[in-house]
Amino acid sequence: MKKTQVSKRLFKEARRLLPGGVDSPVRAFKAVGGTPRFIVRGRGSKLYDADGNRYIDYVGSWGPLILGHADPRVTAAVKRVIGNGTSFGAATEVEIRLAEMICRAMPSIEMLRFVNSGTEATMSAIRLARAFTGRERIIKFEGCYHGHSDSLLVSGGSGMATLSIPDSPGVLRQAARYTLVAAYNDIQSVQRLFDKYPGEIAAVIVEPVAANMGVVQPARGFLGGLRRLTKKYGALLIFDEVITGFRIAYGGAQGLFGIKPDITCLGKIIGGGLPVGAYGGRRDIMKMMAPEGQVYQAGTLSGNPLAMTAGIETLRILNDARVYRQLEERTAALQEGIAAAACQACIPLSIARAGSLLTVFFSGGEVSDYSSARSCDTGLFARFFNSLLNDGIYWPPSQFEAAFVSLAHSPQDIETTIRAAGKAFKQL
Ligand SMILES: *Cc1c(COP(=O)(O)O)cnc(C)c1O
Repeated sequence: MKKTQVSKRLFKEARRLLPGGVDSPVRAFKAVGGTPRFIVRGRGSKLYDADGNRYIDYVGSWGPLILGHADPRVTAAVKRVIGNGTSFGAATEVEIRLAEMICRAMPSIEMLRFVNSGTEATMSAIRLARAFTGRERIIKFEGCYHGHSDSLLVSGGSGMATLSIPDSPGVLRQAARYTLVAAYNDIQSVQRLFDKYPGEIAAVIVEPVAANMGVVQPARGFLGGLRRLTKKYGALLIFDEVITGFRIAYGGAQGLFGIKPDITCLGKIIGGGLPVGAYGGRRDIMKMMAPEGQVYQAGTLSGNPLAMTAGIETLRILNDARVYRQLEERTAALQEGIAAAACQACIPLSIARAGSLLTVFFSGGEVSDYSSARSCDTGLFARFFNSLLNDGIYWPPSQFEAAFVSLAHSPQDIETTIRAAGKAFKQL
């Protein structure tokens, strides 16, 4: 067993001062049991905890660290600018440069606004869509997570799936009432809502590849169907690419599937590991944002020069087809290796993958939506997780999350992980 005395002591101390000892729920290991590790350092594909243990990391700060931890090029870029000041509350050129790179990668984005988190991006995109259409209702999908703003905290995935909180206390019933919920990969469920509320729906917001109920690929025709329906009924289509943007392809899911949303939400990778978010899209829509238009949204640290610099450096490195080929190959090898090991141990699994996103579902059948995701054996997952952790593999501590492979993961990391998974399966 790995030593955990220091993490145990820190966790005890943390719980006195921070609810649950953490600043974001899924970090607390509640779904898998055991002591959450207190991390002191990351380098490449490895994490180091306060007890001196080393892990191969598949969380990658939940998505941003596609280059791995402390990439020397990103670190050097941030070091170069940090001495000039960390925030000005005034316009800077780096905002233009990162905006340029994003617009070039995703041509549906003609203009954008930087914010500080994915939550801010989706919350603001919803406000903008309501203002633009003069309508109040929105449609989201069961199991999709779009951050923790009131109107989007309904039937969410991620930490809410883990903790089984369907809606959070404290969310206004009125706020949630205007959020209609459809089933992922079920275009008929969306059609029914448009039939019921024609002329009332401002926007459909979707993760074009779902990654917060575990990885679920869009069924053939699903995203195209959403594009057709939103156009027909005068609603906006919002792609939440906070995870998928620059992850499953440089141009995001919209590039990969050839669907042009009206508004796109971004975060995670575009900040290179620093806090960031962005939303952008059609120029006629974005021009409604203050100060050009009347829709208000602001941010003391928005467009932060350190985050912009880390983002620019990260995208510069990612803008190379070989990068995505390597991610694809490494993650496919991991998928195949785990599948073979499970087969040998007679553990029924369904492994979903989208580029470098991967979920090992403890389910015999294919997972295509939230209800099939929920049918997984979370008890088996918890044992799998703890076995991996004890063997130095830091897997996401929930059945309903994606594992993130980075460019820093070596073929040897993948081999080591497959061996550890094989050992875990034999003990289940
Ligand atoms: C992480 C995430 C968010 C929220 O971003 P934060 O920066 O955590 O607020 C929104 N949407 C999706 C799809 C996400 O994965």
